[in-house]
Amino acid sequence: MLSWNARLIQFRGAGKSNAMINDSDLVLIAGGGPVGLLCAWLLGRRGLRVRLFDNNTGPKADPRAATTHPATLELLAEAGLAADMVRVGLVAPIFQFWDRPSGELVAQFDHALLKDDTPYPFVVQCEQFKTAKLILDRVEKLPNVEVLFGHEVVDVAPADSSVAVDVHGPDGIKTHAGSYLIGADGGRSVVRKQCAIAFEGFTWPERFIVLTTPYDFEAERGYCYRSYFADPGAWCNCFKVSADGPPGLWRTVFPASGEQPDTEILNDDGVQARIQSFFPASRPYEIVHRNLYVTHQRVAATFRKGHVLLAGDAAHVNNPIGGMGLNGGIQDAANLSDKLVQIILEGAPDGLLDLYSRQRRTVAVEFVQEQSIANKKRLEASDPEARKHNLNELREIAADPARARQFLLRSSMLTSQRRVAAMTLDDA
Ligand SMILES: Cc1cc2nc3c(=O)[nH]c(=O)nc-3n(C[C@H](O)[C@H](O)[C@H](O)COP(=O)(O)OP(=O)(O)OC[C@H]3O[C@@H](n4cnc5c(N)ncnc54)[C@H](O)[C@@H]3O)c2cc1C
Repeated sequence: MLSWNARLIQFRGAGKSNAMINDSDLVLIAGGGPVGLLCAWLLGRRGLRVRLFDNNTGPKADPRAATTHPATLELLAEAGLAADMVRVGLVAPIFQFWDRPSGELVAQFDHALLKDDTPYPFVVQCEQFKTAKLILDRVEKLPNVEVLFGHEVVDVAPADSSVAVDVHGPDGIKTHAGSYLIGADGGRSVVRKQCAIAFEGFTWPERFIVLTTPYDFEAERGYCYRSYFADPGAWCNCFKVSADGPPGLWRTVFPASGEQPDTEILNDDGVQARIQSFFPASRPYEIVHRNLYVTHQRVAATFRKGHVLLAGDAAHVNNPIGGMGLNGGIQDAANLSDKLVQIILEGAPDGLLDLYSRQRRTVAVEFVQEQSIANKKRLEASDPEARKHNLNELREIAADPARARQFLLRSSMLTSQRRVAAMTLDDA
């Protein structure tokens, strides 16, 4: 394998225009999804100079995440961001578990039990493109932050006390140097790959299909804004988003074969058969959006390599049952930005970044991976005894306020945030 310098020279030798843009006090960010944008805003509002590159031509109407948990809302309270998410999203204090074959409501959890634990005893269903837009609006008011859409990071060259990236933009490839690079460039992160950081874990054999419909599951079937359905060998998440305003839309997420051709899964017959078999209705469902996702459970071996840091999906990916991926990414962004500000502006030790990696990897491995895998297994269990045990356990937890509070503290990611807040530089 070539050294970083050799690769950079090789890159330059490829005959591309390559002016070096050198800024040693600049923080570079690869990726303008919600995590990269949040880093840019949190660093920029403290006065740091930031340059963010995103390979899309502009903000993307990405329909993936919606559920934002109390622990994350607490971090987004600054400058009215959480309040704005409430304004453009939906407040969902309750979630439910249903046994699909019997139609029984097994358990209901109300975040009101957390009223003494958090100022946000509810989740907010806010589509991730809306969250990203709210952050971008704030970023655009900061003259010290540049957001460059249409710019793809193609190569990374870390040095001892800085980092350089080659970026393919409208004028060809240019090299940008900065003091630190944040890789917030999603699950297929070029930054992570270029730094040879392993992405440990596995890929689920089945895929996840998302079908979005205006069918009103609350009015027609009595489901709340976040409802989980257990079914032997199958499962469904059904949740509501505000979309362009009332009456909103409902998203259903189901497992889909990893081998069946996409066209068969996604054509009208395929999607009607899937949704009707789970939620029989007297008329065809109107499907306004359909998408198929390959889903992984993976965590980067480290979130820090020298002056390169990973955050968001670049650092960890998980199945969406329980809605924790982006929440974890937002928590990374808040943690990392705070530490970079302390290091760059206040002269704090660089070892804080090792603490960042340990804190956020701990959350990813011990909480998000474990919880999201357990959530999936609970819903898909097919062994009758296992199903009975799972559903009974949920019933019992929901019926006991002390146990229900502990369950909610964990599902709302408050437990994991408290765990990492207690970790210090000295625990290494
Ligand atoms: C069906 C589904 C439902 C989900 N629901 C939830 C939920 O309810 N709650 C939750 O917390 N999470 C949820 N998630 C997970 C969530 O969508 C992700 O965790 C989130 O998008 C991660 O944000 P990010 O900014 O890290 O990465 P991304 O959103 O992937 O953004 C990365 C950005 O980097 C850009 N980029 C990539 N490569 C480069 C490059 N080389 N140079 C420059 N730019 C680059 C990309 O174009 C993109 O704009 C869900 C996921 C799925 C699939």
